[in-house]
Amino acid sequence: MKPGAAPPSVVFASAELAPLAATGGLGDVSRALPRALAGALGGRVSVFLPLYQAVRRRGVELEHAATVDVPGHGPGFRVWRAAGVLDPAALYLVEHDPFFDRPGLYGERGGDYDDNLERFAFFSRAVLEAILALDLPADVVHANDWHTALVPAHLRWFFAGHPRLRAAATVFTIHNLAFQGRFAAERLPSTGLPPAAFHMDGIEYYGRINLMKAGIAYSRAITTVSPRYAAEICTPELGEGLDGLLRARAADLRGILNGIDTEAWNPSIDRHLPARYAAGALGGKRICKHGLVAELGLGISLDTPLVGMVTRLTLQKGCDLVLGAAAELLRQGVGLAVLGSGDPWLEEGFRNLAGAHPGRVAVRIGYDESLSHRIEAGADLFLMPSRYEPCGLNQMYSLRYGTVPVVRATGGLDDTVRDADEDPRRGNGFKFREPRGDELAAALRRAVRAYHEPARWERLQQTGMAEDFSWSLSARRYAEIYDRLREDRRGVPS
Ligand code: ADP
Repeated sequence: MKPGAAPPSVVFASAELAPLAATGGLGDVSRALPRALAGALGGRVSVFLPLYQAVRRRGVELEHAATVDVPGHGPGFRVWRAAGVLDPAALYLVEHDPFFDRPGLYGERGGDYDDNLERFAFFSRAVLEAILALDLPADVVHANDWHTALVPAHLRWFFAGHPRLRAAATVFTIHNLAFQGRFAAERLPSTGLPPAAFHMDGIEYYGRINLMKAGIAYSRAITTVSPRYAAEICTPELGEGLDGLLRARAADLRGILNGIDTEAWNPSIDRHLPARYAAGALGGKRICKHGLVAELGLGISLDTPLVGMVTRLTLQKGCDLVLGAAAELLRQGVGLAVLGSGDPWLEEGFRNLAGAHPGRVAVRIGYDESLSHRIEAGADLFLMPSRYEPCGLNQMYSLRYGTVPVVRATGGLDDTVRDADEDPRRGNGFKFREPRGDELAAALRRAVRAYHEPARWERLQQTGMAEDFSWSLSARRYAEIYDRLREDRRGVPS
């Protein structure tokens, strides 16, 4: 920010907000980034979220803030302000019970709701109507992933000449390019956009609607959640069909690493652990390992390197690579502790692995936040062999917990982990390049060798524990983008 300039006011639209309504990283970012922006930078930040059933169930205190009309849906939708949830940022919830008073955010029992296009098109337009009704300052309107991609699109089509919104700059963040919001062309009226938007420079993609594409096409700046992923999505391998468009917008695309919640993930105050520890006093970590070995019924000694995994069990996360290379991994004399849920065939694969190696491999299928902390603290090594990883959180938790990460060099994993053999002075983990079991096994072998050299191991742990993954750092980078846009109100590309 220029000295003396007022901090930018930001309106942030998201389909998720942790812990009220979240399925992944988007929810974490939507909680942490606005608070960090509003707190450290002093800007006015307003966050919009649908009023989901999950939010109602939490008993959040709601105060009626405005009533808006949403074209195509009718008059009289209420917008509520939630007290004390996101301070110092303001949280607004958009009510439309037929759309949002449902058990799921996007679907139920593994299937998506059929009307997700209508639901999120409604929400996106309602955000813009609410900005006007609430008279919110909006130097920047920041949308996230395909659910809110119609915010910049509607801004461009319907408010480009509006005295209050004309100057608003748009930022669109891609949290995971794999989910794009693709729908049949016949449903264009549901987007609220005119037929002219169904065009290769707009919302059309190979004859269908693609909301993610619209978000990219109609936003002034595009960000994604790590610098490496920003480069990768410009390639055919990880561009998910949008690499051409992203290459064309490369000058406006920037990768900003997500921060982590440094209070929830702090081994010196973590209440999920049997003992607490810090970089200068690692004794408690051994107690955590002892506790974890007992909790999981492992039969390994405390001198055996213990490898942890906490993950969705999917191909994206490379879980099949672990199963394929399991014999080779176990030959290296490690124990393995896995917590995860996901694809049934992978769940079964891990269950079978544990069954075949009792005492050496422990597998817990399910979602268990508390156990995830104990694995982060009790393991010596943490495995993340992802095929792609926009940012990844667990490698950052691991570094903070003195648990050395072994990762595939992709996305945010590549940005946060430095290989200890390639860079002996600054290394904090181990990396492999190709998504293959033999490469994974070779990286683990190097890590196990380091584990058996105590002085080197402790140096590695200390390097990792000294990293700064706080949100204030990331928020500053977003603020730089907001500032640049404010100074350069060229509007959206035409
Ligand atoms: P993604 O959002 O792609 O699943 P991230 O690494 O960005 O991957 O974030 C995943 C988050 O979910 C991490 O905080 C991780 O610890 C947590 N997590 C994933 N699976 C489980 C599980 N089975 N139990 C507890 N926490 C889990």
